[in-house]
Amino acid sequence: MYKEKIMNRGKLFIVATPIGNLGDITYRAVETLKLVDFILCEDTRVTKILLDHFQISKQFVVVNAHNESKIIEKVFERLESGESCALVSDAGTPCISDPGVRLVNKFIEYGIEIVGIPGANAAIMALSISGLPTDSFVFEGFLPQKKGRQKKLKQLAQEERTIVLYESTYRIKKLLEELNEYMPERQIVVSRELTKKFEENWRGRPQEILTDFDKKIIKGEFVVTIAPLNWKERESENHSEPY
Ligand code: SAM
Repeated sequence: MYKEKIMNRGKLFIVATPIGNLGDITYRAVETLKLVDFILCEDTRVTKILLDHFQISKQFVVVNAHNESKIIEKVFERLESGESCALVSDAGTPCISDPGVRLVNKFIEYGIEIVGIPGANAAIMALSISGLPTDSFVFEGFLPQKKGRQKKLKQLAQEERTIVLYESTYRIKKLLEELNEYMPERQIVVSRELTKKFEENWRGRPQEILTDFDKKIIKGEFVVTIAPLNWKERESENHSEPY
């Protein structure tokens, strides 16, 4: 049944892969990666490790921020000729702070069927374990590195929804220092290396997390989840369930 579905021609499968722990791949993801004709990926070395683990061998086409527009027509020709393909990223859900958005957008315009194969996503995992309100949240991904960064931080300091940010090893300390400057009273959760061996979650105000920061293991990938403005005050006013 599933095979028949996939054999319908010309589909693009958006396949989520693990964010660290290979055990988090889904059955559908493995089945789909086995059955498609070729795979669009960011970095062939990263995707090869994943595919080797599941004993899958496929042709790769690299898609990244630099070539995305250029490869669209070539991939479209292959889908039109009856091949099916999967888009994966290095980790997690494709198109979420990862390449593929332009491709998906164009293929929708071309009438290609887009099929999502859901799975891991660092932002949603961090939010789900944060203990912060999830009824309404804003995902900002990576903050701009230079131009517009201060303006964005000022704007986020007034945000009445939970905020989810991505950050790298290189800038996590800088981000925490900025949060301490722009929203020192806010409860935050810093989630490091989710699903991996050295996963850690630090909870508290930015200054509390910055204390002894240099002694903490600060290598890795990070999600920072930030409580809404006046969260506790508003919660005690309406006593409603936070979802
Ligand atoms: N598409 C991915 C997803 O679905 O989560 C996100 C890709 S984005 C290029 C990479 C960023 O996601 C990292 O810099 C980090 O902020 C976050 N991230 C990815 N994996 C993570 C993990 N295991 N633990 C914490 N953060 C992670």
